[in-house]
Amino acid sequence: GGDRELLLNAIRDVADHPRAGVVFKDITPLLADPHAFSVLTDALAAAVTRQGATAVAGLEARGFILAAPAALRAGVGFVPVRKAGKLPGETMGERYELEYGTAEVELHTDAVGPGDRVLVIDDVLATGGTAEASVRLIRRTGAEVVGVTVLLELGFLGGRERLLSALDGTPLESL
Ligand code: 5GP
Repeated sequence: GGDRELLLNAIRDVADHPRAGVVFKDITPLLADPHAFSVLTDALAAAVTRQGATAVAGLEARGFILAAPAALRAGVGFVPVRKAGKLPGETMGERYELEYGTAEVELHTDAVGPGDRVLVIDDVLATGGTAEASVRLIRRTGAEVVGVTVLLELGFLGGRERLLSALDGTPLESL
């Protein structure tokens, strides 16, 4: 509908970032447009409510920008999933494969736990590696992951298939 067009038109393609041959989806024009940002926040907050989430996990770094206002608007807490070495408290981590090498996401061990229903939010689903590791991490706390919601999904990279097969039907929604 109109909101989908509004959001799509506020995302810019940047050629050859971060490497030659990659077309990067740049969401900064959307963030700079308060109407588009508000429409996006409403849609994300609606997903939080629809899934009955009790917490929102945002993935560093752009996921933070989208997840925090959505959590506030939906009236639930925000939990950061960070790159390794950033969180100050006791953490648990989950490694995942990159094209070259590996990466690790971390969560405070007391951030969520049994009884929590967590919605994971990020800006872009590409290969799905980040989201998959984040879901696995959150599940290890005993919390339930009720879904992954992203603004945009790069369909040709197979992230949806990876997430659904690795994670046993965790609902994935891209706006
Ligand atoms: P994945 O792990 O799915 O391959 O990559 C997803 C992560 O990389 C997300 O946290 C996302 O922010 C970032 N990412 C990958 N490609 C893009 C892109 O084209 N645009 C933006 N904004 N983020 C991207």
